[in-house]
Formats: sequence, C-alpha cells, structure tokens
Amino acid sequence: MTPQPNPEVGAAVKAADRAHVFHSWSAQELIDPLAVAGAEGSYFWDYDGRRYLDFTSGLVYTNIGYQHPKVVAAIQEQAARMTTFAPAFAVEARSEAARLIAERTPGDLDKIFFTNGGADAVEHAVRMARLHTGRPKVLSAYRSYHGGTQQAVNITGDPRRWASDSGTAGVVHFWAPFPYRSRFYAETEEQECARALEHLETTIAFEGPSTIAAIILETIPGTAGIMTPPAGYLAGVRELCDTYGIVFVLDEVMAGFGRTGKWFAADLYDVVPDLMTFAKGVNSGYVPLGGVAISGAIAETFGKRPYPGGLTYSGHPLACAAAVATIDVMAEEGVVENAARLGESVVGPGLRELAERHPCVGDVRGVGMFWALELVRDRETREPLVPYNAAGEANAPMAAFAAAAKEGGVWPFVNMNRTHVVPPCNASEAELKEGLAVLDAALSVADGYV
Ligand code: PMP
Repeated sequence: MTPQPNPEVGAAVKAADRAHVFHSWSAQELIDPLAVAGAEGSYFWDYDGRRYLDFTSGLVYTNIGYQHPKVVAAIQEQAARMTTFAPAFAVEARSEAARLIAERTPGDLDKIFFTNGGADAVEHAVRMARLHTGRPKVLSAYRSYHGGTQQAVNITGDPRRWASDSGTAGVVHFWAPFPYRSRFYAETEEQECARALEHLETTIAFEGPSTIAAIILETIPGTAGIMTPPAGYLAGVRELCDTYGIVFVLDEVMAGFGRTGKWFAADLYDVVPDLMTFAKGVNSGYVPLGGVAISGAIAETFGKRPYPGGLTYSGHPLACAAAVATIDVMAEEGVVENAARLGESVVGPGLRELAERHPCVGDVRGVGMFWALELVRDRETREPLVPYNAAGEANAPMAAFAAAAKEGGVWPFVNMNRTHVVPPCNASEAELKEGLAVLDAALSVADGYV
C-alpha cells in the first residue's frame, strides 16, 4: 500500500531521519532531505502532496520507473517461495537472471559474477584483471565515477576521490576525450579522438605496458557529464588493449540496461570489452544488485584456479527475481526502443531548442534517455556557470536553477555546472514534454546569472 500525503507523518519521518540517518557524501548538518511518501511510474510525492516528475530516475537507476506492478509481484512471489539462499548453490532466480543478462551482453561476455551494486562490481572487475594478467596497475579517466568503496573511489576521477585517496592504489589517471572542453587543443571530433588515443598510448608507454592490468572506462561517462565519446575512440582503446595485453573493462553501471536506447552503450559503438560492470538498471534498483559480465578467456583463468573473492549476498534471490522480471518487462514493453525513439524525437530536439533560446546553455549532448545540458556564463569562452566543484554561495546559480525546477514540479539532476536529463527509459512523450517545459522556465532563472 502506497503511503498517502500526511504532513504529520512527514514531519515524524524527517525528524527521525535527521536524528539517526547518516547521509552519504554530505555534511550532516547542512542538508535538508525531502521526506518522500510514495512513488509510481515517473513520479514521486512528498507528505504535503507535492508531486514531482523524476528527471533523475533516482540516481539514474529506475529505468522502468517506480513500483512497476510486474516487478513488485515477482519480488513478492520470490519472497514467498525462497527469500534467500547462499551463493554456492544453484538457485532458479539466480541462474535465470544470469542467463538473461548473458544473452544481452555483447560478444562472449557469458559468465556473470553478481555483486550488491556498482562499486563492488568495479572492485571485482579490477581484481579479475589483475589476477588474469599478473600485473598491478589500472588506468582510468580523470572525468569518471566508478563507485564509493575504497578501490572504486581510487579509480574514480571526480573530486570525491580526493578526501580518501591514499595515492598508493596502483591507479593512473588519464584524459579521455571531451570535445567541448578539449585537453588536446582539438578543433574537431576526429582530432580529439586521435589525440586522446595518442595520449593514452603515450601513458601506457611511460607507465610500462607490462605493469598495466586494465584500462577501465565508462562507455559514456555519466556522473562526470554524459560525455558521448567521439566515433572510433572506444574501438581505438580496444586496439591498444589488444596490442599491449591489457584487459579492457567497460563500466556500464549507469549507461547499461536501456539508458542509451540500446541494452548496453557498448552496442552503440560496436565494441566488446573483456569485462563489463553493471548494476542500477539491471532491476531498476528495486533490490540492490550489480555484477561483472566476464569474457570466455578471463573465465578460463578461473577454471581450475579458484577466484579469490565473493560476497555473502552475491546473486541474492530477491534481487535476481527483480532482474528477471525487469528484463522481461523491458522486452515486453519495448522500453529500450522507447528510450531510443523518444530520445531522438523528443528529448534531443527539445533540449537543442532550449539551448537556442537560453544563453546559459553552452552544450547539449547525449543519447536515448541520457542527456546533459552544460550551463555557462559565456558561450564564447565556455566559462562554467559555477566554478569546478563549487559549494555554498559559489554554487548559487545552480541552486537557483534546481529550486526553480522543483517549484515547477520536476526533480532535476544537478552536478557541478550541469543538469543531467535522465528520466526513466519508459517515460511517455507527454511526461517528457511536461519536464522540458519546466526546464525551460528553470533555465530562464539560470539565464539571470549569465
Ligand atoms: N560506476 C558507475 C559508472 C556509476 O555511475 C556508479 C554509480 N553512480 C557506480 C559505478 C557505483 O555504483 P554503486 O553506487 O551502485 O556502488
């Protein structure tokens, strides 16, 4: 039963939260979390009855929206039949989820190691690569996010790494391509691609190929700005990995399971990694689940030799039953196709039209239900609307933008000087147009800072 609006209950929920919940990535006394009463489809609402269109898909994971009845029923049925069972056993929900995932992952990524989420999937992918190659280092992009556990946060490029980076994790960062803010003085996508590949090959040469276990990249870096890579970049990285015997890991935790209008973003670029991480959309986050899809060659490394790693809840039956039902729903309801079609016909053109009218919009990029607007003070110089990693007063323009969107009934995703437009992959045309109209008004507020 979905809780209904009731301000008194809302106040009690909030008071208990403030007293006892320690929130992630936050200064505990400076936050004011909204008390959420319920959610359905693309919307959620608070205890005062205010409804929001969720343009964030939670943390970019409710790819089929909230409370899909078929997935809720599948979780209930699994709970009645077998709530839990340890990972060493073959369990129907687990083997079926693995089969459905392996059928959809590219190439020969046919074995699935289950985790509880994205960060531990990254941890295990890197461990597998190190053991497979016998080499210590991992190369990853500065503009990246790979998770909040220790190794995953070391691999991450974004500033959230700084506070806990010991500097001894065997991770070397490099610049991946980003034509809008090129580190390579490139004027075209082709130049950006060629120079980024040259930079990566130079990094490999100077680090020593025989010391590098893996290169890990988000297929489309998400948290760092939804930076669709130039054509040919990922294929070029694949080639470098083959040349130097390096394991190629694609992190599809955010980009996977329909987000880009394909089952996996790797399909957009026709690349097949050696390991691919996933989480979030695999079951729309209804029960925590993530994993690593593993190539035949790497699976063989652990054919006769034990893989030294595991998790108590690996392949939890409730999470796997939710994944089976989610994948079924996505196939039956054409969710992936919906993301591709409405991304191309509604969201992309709608955002480009907003960019034409709002001087604060510097760049529009994305695909499917995976878009970013980059807000700037000056379109010519591309100076960001707020400084890198701004907080407090310095972040006022983005805070004003977010407040205006919420006032209009859209919950926006805001990160640094960007808003990411990441609605559920099954959002309707009417919902998307409603959200774009609210963003239009919120961008007018941001224009005031240009
Ligand atoms: N990798 C990527 C690409 C992500 O976007 C995220 C989460 N935003 C993670 C890993 C970490 O996933 P989790 O929060 O489930 O640990």
